[in-house]
Amino acid sequence: MDKLSVLKEYFGHKAFRSGQEELIDHILSGQDVLGIMPTGAGKSLCYQVPALMLKGVTIVISPLISLMKDQVSALVSAGVSAACINSSLTAEEYADTMQKAFHGDYKLIYAAPERLDTQEMLRLASAIEISMVTVDEAHCVSQWGQDFRPSYLHITEFIERLPYRPVVSAFTATATSEVKEDIIRILRLNEPFSLTTGFDRKNLYFSVMQPSNKYDALRKLIAGYGSKCGIVYCLSRKKVEEVCDKLNEDGFSATRYHAGLSDSERRRNQDDFIYDRRRIMVATNAFGMGIDKSDVSFVIHYNMPKNIESYYQEAGRAGRDGEPAECVLLYSGADVRTNNFMIEKSREENTDLSDEEKDIMLERDRQRLKEMTFYSTTTGCLREFMLNYFGEKSKNYCGNCSCCVNGFEKVDITIDAQKIVSCVYRIKQKGRDYGKGMIVDVLRGSKNERLLSLGFDKLSTYGIMSDVSPKRIRAELDHLIAMDYLHITDDDYPMVSLAPASAGLLRDKIPISMNLPKEQTPLGKKRADDRFYAESPLFAELRALRGKLAAEAHVPAYIVFSDAALRDMCRILPTDRAKFLTVSGVGRSKADKYSDEFCGLIREYIRSHPDEEKAPAGEVSYLEKQLDSVREHIAVSRSTAPKPWTEDEEEMLRKEFSEGMTAADIAVRHKRTKLAVNSRLKKLGLIS
Ligand code: ADP
Ligand code: MG
Repeated sequence: MDKLSVLKEYFGHKAFRSGQEELIDHILSGQDVLGIMPTGAGKSLCYQVPALMLKGVTIVISPLISLMKDQVSALVSAGVSAACINSSLTAEEYADTMQKAFHGDYKLIYAAPERLDTQEMLRLASAIEISMVTVDEAHCVSQWGQDFRPSYLHITEFIERLPYRPVVSAFTATATSEVKEDIIRILRLNEPFSLTTGFDRKNLYFSVMQPSNKYDALRKLIAGYGSKCGIVYCLSRKKVEEVCDKLNEDGFSATRYHAGLSDSERRRNQDDFIYDRRRIMVATNAFGMGIDKSDVSFVIHYNMPKNIESYYQEAGRAGRDGEPAECVLLYSGADVRTNNFMIEKSREENTDLSDEEKDIMLERDRQRLKEMTFYSTTTGCLREFMLNYFGEKSKNYCGNCSCCVNGFEKVDITIDAQKIVSCVYRIKQKGRDYGKGMIVDVLRGSKNERLLSLGFDKLSTYGIMSDVSPKRIRAELDHLIAMDYLHITDDDYPMVSLAPASAGLLRDKIPISMNLPKEQTPLGKKRADDRFYAESPLFAELRALRGKLAAEAHVPAYIVFSDAALRDMCRILPTDRAKFLTVSGVGRSKADKYSDEFCGLIREYIRSHPDEEKAPAGEVSYLEKQLDSVREHIAVSRSTAPKPWTEDEEEMLRKEFSEGMTAADIAVRHKRTKLAVNSRLKKLGLIS
């Protein structure tokens, strides 16, 4: 089987992500590799795909038991024979696993580094053919990394004791050059092909807030996330306790994690979160490594962490499934002091280092904290700041962070201003002044009845701004009024008229600029579609089925299917196995296992909702857009007199397009409503 078939058959993905294919190709050609990719980029597939194609067994070294268990259950549910060997196994399980391993039953064996120098492991290693040794979270070999694990130093020895040297592949999300060099040197990688993919995580929305009351802000944020799950990071154990208690008192389903709890409680709480029994994990930075829960929708930092490395790693635990997710930092000046205090303290506690080394560390930590503070207070693009910090170039506007979204940019509107003023002038020439709504309509080239009956479609300025949104024209018009380039009457039906300065604007071509909200990115469109499917009743039913199957199999829900896969089912509405296989995230094994139940549910759903025609993906955004223009139009026309519709009609419009109405609402009832929308839009001249 070639690598693409493996990807499709076992993992149900259609294409490789950036970097995956190259790493896989080098492994298959027998070269060592080092893959440096951000969290969520998909490092696992880079060794799992070749592991399935290589002749022998792949040993995967991974630092945490939870991480191993997660990966192995994901593999097993994808139809791959895999097992893990670590201290969590009972003697019986261990013997059984080992026996199967000797028998060659597994393609992938996950092992804790501590296990590598046991006699039995060495016996196993010489009895079976090992094609590859993979070191996941490879930064753990480096003392420069944040998670140094002495047991990782056994790996090299293990590899060297093997009868022949297999391919060695190493993966990490840590990008600093010290760590990279350490990995290559300590693991003795042999002229490795090393690849660093971009650090940008496009699906993450970054935001910094400086609320006067942090808990209030937190509560509001979490309430806004509905049933989604997420992590709240605090700096101290005490804060974790406090925030977790308050959230529970306020009716949220939260649990906690920090180093002061017993092992058993930590494990229990962690499982509660992973298995969706608790929606929110409140934790110190002790929580996270090895948590591969892919459907974390938000990571909120209740306190600013000590450096950008930590922040990006912790925040990066959101949206590993590629879905839109939010990373919010609640900043306050006190966080800087707390961090400084902790840095000083760790200096005193660190007894391994000489005074000189301590001073160097201290200086470095302080510098990193400073950078973190800059991030928290910058008004520029947050993503740009972070990527630059990691040595990557990026444009200065990402459109998907709080600074970009709330930010404004200075725009030259000289030409638009001339168009607007001449429009006012042309309208006046026809007899009298009109309100803002009419001016916008003429400039946009609207076909509304009143405008046509007045003959304004014959004006030379008719439709000359048809490519500009009504919102934007209105903003520019307001700006010109504010700057006294135009006048507006102060009565019930305010009329826009020329001002003494108007003529100068046309004659002398005075340059004019203004601050406008920056342009929206296309991400909003995808969100609208996603939201539509996530809100559909079918989605809820699919979720329930997923939950049931996950509980039966004792695995977290996301191991069965991701939300993205469920949404894809809502989109595609597969009713048989062949169609089911086209769903993103469905491979052969999952199709075998689940197509009957899911297709059955979908068939039943379609049968019981005959009038609910499927709305194709594009349609939702289309409707959303239409809806926006309708609302815009209603707002603009409210001040216009006389109105282009009767009072009754206006009342109906208001009802139909009430504020809370979403495109999803329309699409769901769309057979009936679409006609209504279309006729309204026609009437308003927004479509022909
Ligand atoms: P990492 O180890 O780099 O943090 P993972 O290997 O855990 O990331 O992968 C994160 C998510 O990305 C998983 O849910 C995985 O299914 C998904 N994924 C990986 N590769 C692809 C791909 N080629 N197409 C679609 N999804 C993918
Ligand atoms: Mg990983």
